[in-house]
Amino acid sequence: MNQNSLDVKPEARVLFVDMNSYFARCEQQANYWLRHRPVGVCVYTGKFGCVISLSTEAKERGLKAGMRLNDAMAVCPDLVPVESNPERYRHYHKKIIGVLRNYCNDVVPKSIDEAIINLSNYDHVDPMKIAINIKKDILRDVGEWLTCSVGIAPNAFLAKLASVRGKKRDGLMMITPENIDAVLADLRLGDLPGIGANMSYRLERAGIKTPLQMRYATPQLLKSIFKSIDGIYWHYRLNFIETNIVAHDYRGMQAMRQISAEKRKHINYIDQLFMTLCLTLEKRMVHHKFYCKSVGFTARYEDGTRWDDAFTITTPVQDAISLMRMIRIRVTKFEETTGADPVFNTQITQLRVAVTNFVNNGNMLYSLFEDMDRKETALKTMHEIKNKFGQDKLIRAVEMTDGKVVQDVIGFGSVKDLTDLDYKSI
Ligand SMILES: [Mg+2]
Repeated sequence: MNQNSLDVKPEARVLFVDMNSYFARCEQQANYWLRHRPVGVCVYTGKFGCVISLSTEAKERGLKAGMRLNDAMAVCPDLVPVESNPERYRHYHKKIIGVLRNYCNDVVPKSIDEAIINLSNYDHVDPMKIAINIKKDILRDVGEWLTCSVGIAPNAFLAKLASVRGKKRDGLMMITPENIDAVLADLRLGDLPGIGANMSYRLERAGIKTPLQMRYATPQLLKSIFKSIDGIYWHYRLNFIETNIVAHDYRGMQAMRQISAEKRKHINYIDQLFMTLCLTLEKRMVHHKFYCKSVGFTARYEDGTRWDDAFTITTPVQDAISLMRMIRIRVTKFEETTGADPVFNTQITQLRVAVTNFVNNGNMLYSLFEDMDRKETALKTMHEIKNKFGQDKLIRAVEMTDGKVVQDVIGFGSVKDLTDLDYKSI
């Protein structure tokens, strides 16, 4: 069954599981003598090695990920530096995902230490009970040091927010239509994953000073502040609609066609072409045994404007009918929300449909998942290091001539390219 991602789903049925201090906890799990001690996992444990994950004990001492070891040791002399062990983190990752799959067959790993569990298609389940059991099962079956924070909410974005906010409440929090306003009232704009300093400033200048005000702002106002359809998505996210924007370049398949002045006179032709594009993608996905979880759609018009949409769905699809239906529903919804002219009209000069975020026969292709927030964190950390120590102090590990120092590194929070080298300071 395909799910329409634009439905308003007020029941809290999406769980976001986030492992605490993951790499450091895995080390403490594997090595008894590291428990209760400040531990810093480093890509390289030389004097200027960079700390990528800290145990809770180390965080309590004021250490921050991204610090160089010599600075971290100055602040916390009993810090135990441990070289990262990607094989170990993958091993626990697989076991954790296995536990989650005992409860639901729709589990999407978002990174090495995060996963989404979608219970939307399950009737008569108690998500809170499942969350409590999952936490217990991981501790019992995977490792007693592997604690996690679970957020429960009507959509993935709010579930992630709940997992972050719930960290200080035994790692369990639920956001529902009843409490969302109270939850948002305690937050600043910058507390929302994905809202950075620049966007906070823009929102504030437009009179939206809190996440609560943002929830009740009209989609049109948010669209004008964000200067893109992203604003409308923010409205959706805060109002129980499942939606995710695919903000990066597609690493998927696309089907595109120009439409001549003669042909675009007939709306039937445009409709048929739209179907043909979707069928083309269906054929290619069937050929590769792929199902997609993200869809993009663009229409360009005679006057140079364009309509651009990209969204993520919870249930992977492969067939043209589903693609067409989902795109159409979103277009209709958009037209209704904004009162805009029809998106499908006789001024269209080009149509494009794209699919990405593939799932292969029900097995996740990890390499195609992205986690934007984590990527931003990693980039931010990298830029902070660069600013502090100068550009030349930071090189990609792959550029190291001494290959044996770093052979296998997991990037910040991403399961993408598990064997790829990330970066390190020297
Ligand atoms: Mg985590």
